[in-house]
Amino acid sequence: MLDGVKIEEHLQSGPPALGVLLGSVCEGCRRPISDRFLLRVNESSWHEECLQCAACRQPLSTSCYLRDRKLYCKLDYQQ
Ligand SMILES: [Zn+2]
Ligand SMILES: [Zn+2]
Repeated sequence: MLDGVKIEEHLQSGPPALGVLLGSVCEGCRRPISDRFLLRVNESSWHEECLQCAACRQPLSTSCYLRDRKLYCKLDYQQ
């Protein structure tokens, strides 16, 4: 049974000013996000280049799946 959360509907780009104001820190590399490549996934923020599958390193630009605070593509999530 899968215990992850399907989050692809919530993946969206955020305005850069908002990311700076909130002091967003990338969940992937733990660095502040201050550019326009902020991506919000549920309550976490990611650099666009950090948003990749934890298993196959495929960029996750359109949809992603969260499990144990790691992101996976659809294929690896369903493994
Ligand atoms: Zn990052
Ligand atoms: Zn993958």
